Amino acid sequence: MKKIKGFNRNQINGGVKGLMSQNLFVKCKACGGIIERKKIIENFYVCKLCGNYEVLDYKKRLAMIIDPDTFEETNVYTDFCDPIKFPGYREKHESIVSKIDLNEAIVTGSGCISGQKVMVGVMDIRFMMGSMGVIVGEKVTRMFEDAEKEKLPVVMFVASGGARMQEGIFSLMQMAKTAAAVSDFSEAGGLFISVLTNPTTGGVSASFAFLGDIIIAEPRALIGFAGKRVIEQTINEKLPDNFQTSEFLFEHGYIDLIVERKRLKEVLGNILKIHSKENNKKFRQRPAAENASMRSEE
Ligand SMILES: [Zn+2]
Repeated sequence: MKKIKGFNRNQINGGVKGLMSQNLFVKCKACGGIIERKKIIENFYVCKLCGNYEVLDYKKRLAMIIDPDTFEETNVYTDFCDPIKFPGYREKHESIVSKIDLNEAIVTGSGCISGQKVMVGVMDIRFMMGSMGVIVGEKVTRMFEDAEKEKLPVVMFVASGGARMQEGIFSLMQMAKTAAAVSDFSEAGGLFISVLTNPTTGGVSASFAFLGDIIIAEPRALIGFAGKRVIEQTINEKLPDNFQTSEFLFEHGYIDLIVERKRLKEVLGNILKIHSKENNKKFRQRPAAENASMRSEE
């Protein structure tokens, strides 16, 4: 078990001291505006000038959501899986592993959100666009199995370009595998909260991402299966500008909530509390009490 210590929003990138050694200012990728690095960290990596949501790596996401010093990583795989011996895949994989602090496109583990223990998964698009191959599918599946064993809810932060083409049919099979894992977990009574972030597309959106009991999205995230242009060409029709955004999907009933990043931890904490064992017990007791009062009236 690898424990990542000291998660604290102000300690990201080495805290304020660390900031001094890095660039003091950053450029917003959306509006081009120059913002003080400290200000953007304080604003949860949302640009104050244009409201653009910076795509987060797994450490930033965990630091914002998981209580400090509670995260413990599970199912760490350092192996490499190349089921169809795709040309250049191994080299590409090795090159990414040497550059960033990740072995795969997802990090899973357990941790607390506002004092409530959960199993958490965070996808990271720095690793091959957060695509799902055999190892990502296995990690997602094991996360749900572990959650069922430990009777914990699952919170998943999704960010993905879809299935990993370098693994061919084996990556597509992960859609069925992860969907089956969610189904087993659900039948056992587990709570699964899926948080869709920018971008959530392809085979991941078509499998576990949309199987949450509660589906939350960050504002203005790109969420969809095939690209907009491909659909337009197929159906020969112009699609609305906001097609495949959180807001469009919310209007059409695919998403339960759109939550601003600064409120995400609070909202998740509240949902977990409502569905906690204590609250469940109270909820189950209520019909019995109502029955008793009905009988006394008879
Ligand atoms: Zn901006």
